[in-house]
Amino acid sequence: MVHGKVYLVGAGPGDPKLLTVKAVEVIKMANVLIYDRLGVSDDVLNMAPVEAERIFVGKRTGLHEVPQDQITHLIIQKAKEGGVVVRLKGGDPFVFGRGGEEVEALVVNGISFEVIPGISSSIAAPMYAGIPLTHRDYAASVAIITGHRAGDAEKHVDWVKIAHAVDTMVILMGVESLEGIVDKLLTGGISPNRSVAMVESGTLPQQRTIIATLGTIIAKSRENNLKPPAVIIIGEVTTLGRKLAWFKQPLH
Ligand code: SAH
Repeated sequence: MVHGKVYLVGAGPGDPKLLTVKAVEVIKMANVLIYDRLGVSDDVLNMAPVEAERIFVGKRTGLHEVPQDQITHLIIQKAKEGGVVVRLKGGDPFVFGRGGEEVEALVVNGISFEVIPGISSSIAAPMYAGIPLTHRDYAASVAIITGHRAGDAEKHVDWVKIAHAVDTMVILMGVESLEGIVDKLLTGGISPNRSVAMVESGTLPQQRTIIATLGTIIAKSRENNLKPPAVIIIGEVTTLGRKLAWFKQPLH
């Protein structure tokens, strides 16, 4: 039996126009689309043929996320049925998207696949807020870090060490643990004056940005009721957001 092919596709940060040409090409050929919520809008899903099967595996309000092994199992099962299976992921599949885990399973099961990069929110959300991650005057290094409450299986993050070592820190999945992160940095001796920005729903019409400092970010994010998905950026480059912000919300 000939197995199908799996395309692990980055859907970009939110704006469907930020898909790659290659992503659009494979979505148009899809027999099955397996997608999460983040970064995958209806506009993207509608690019697939009407008869394509669409399977949502993200988090629905009030319900739990589909466990990763079930998702992996589903991808493999669909690939074994044949055809083109498109696994769509927000941003880039290999930036905190568990793309690596899914590819490992495909390799073990002898299923052919391709990975198509996507524009990561870690880069696009700051950019849409006028924040360049590097700048000749302010930042020569960047770290992309998960702020997710570390489970047993996850690698430990040494926040203070990173804060000393790199100029720009970009934190994904960090809204819920913001207080813990800020607390670790401040008690670890990082200055409360270090600049911080948060970009909520980057590249989407409802995008919002706040610019603060380590000392004020918690109050300011509460005041503005900032919610996920959001990227947190720490470092001097965030101050540029005040003068370089360029993204204009489309009129309703
Ligand atoms: N693979 C994805 C990241 C997955 S982790 C990528 O490369 O973008 C999910 C996290 O991404 C969210 O918790 C949030 O921190 C960030 N994120 C995704 N979409 C976003 C958006 N439009 N604006 C701001 N942050 C976003």
